[in-house]
Amino acid sequence: MNKQLKIGWLYPELMSTYGDRGNITVLQKRCEWRGIKVEILNIDQNTSDQQLKTIDLLFGGGAQDHEQAIVIKDLQKKKKSIKELIEKNVPALFVCGAPQLMGHYYEPAIGKRIEGLGIFDMVSKHAGPDKPRLIGNIVAKVSSHIIANEVKQSPDDSTQNMGLPRRLAPRNDVIVGFENHGGRTYLGENAKPFAKVIKGFGNNGEDGTEGVVYKNAIGCYLHGPLLPKNPKITDYLIEKALEVKYKEKVHLKPLDDELENKAIKYILEKF
Ligand code: GLN
Repeated sequence: MNKQLKIGWLYPELMSTYGDRGNITVLQKRCEWRGIKVEILNIDQNTSDQQLKTIDLLFGGGAQDHEQAIVIKDLQKKKKSIKELIEKNVPALFVCGAPQLMGHYYEPAIGKRIEGLGIFDMVSKHAGPDKPRLIGNIVAKVSSHIIANEVKQSPDDSTQNMGLPRRLAPRNDVIVGFENHGGRTYLGENAKPFAKVIKGFGNNGEDGTEGVVYKNAIGCYLHGPLLPKNPKITDYLIEKALEVKYKEKVHLKPLDDELENKAIKYILEKF
């Protein structure tokens, strides 16, 4: 494809809980398997606004409250550049602790409120050190404005269902992952959910929403990491990054996702 992408990775040493760094590996591999060159820019306090402007795809992983309080001090200094990236439709994936910092604020279990970058119209509040964390495997249906369910299948055609209940059959808009968060997130009226919870807690374990979407930026609570088991989301981010950078429609060459589909099937069968 003779194309290249620069992936910006927010504070890898401080924000990468529950295997989130695996998302970077998968983005890189699924690009390289299509001949797309990838450069990873580790973002930290030494990264300049000039460097941030050259990012084609932004990633931020999860973090415990303590690390979030450290990171926000530097992240606030990068607020203008990160907002500019998102406003010009540069795609981003933010997992758990990262989207909490991209909302209006996050109230940790202990300590003072962490003011966020206000990119997502949402707030997050830890339920308190004595309240249970929202932990476990999660299955959700991605909002159709992200991934339409292209698989047209007849209701009783079990062959395509991989032996699964029809509502969970191989729909490419069903995602699976693992969540572990004390924070509960509440979307504002200008925020669209990334997905609808089928099994698990999602944003707050109350309203059935999971994650958030603004322009091409996705926030979600799915660790695991998310992308290895959900190649559709990976390819969505790569396509968006290429389209925004090269200002042309992009259709990525399909890859053999048999292993990924087996992983999803295994998890869906467990439920
Ligand atoms: N510290 C945040 C919370 O508990 C985020 C946790 C995470 O990123 N896994 O909600």
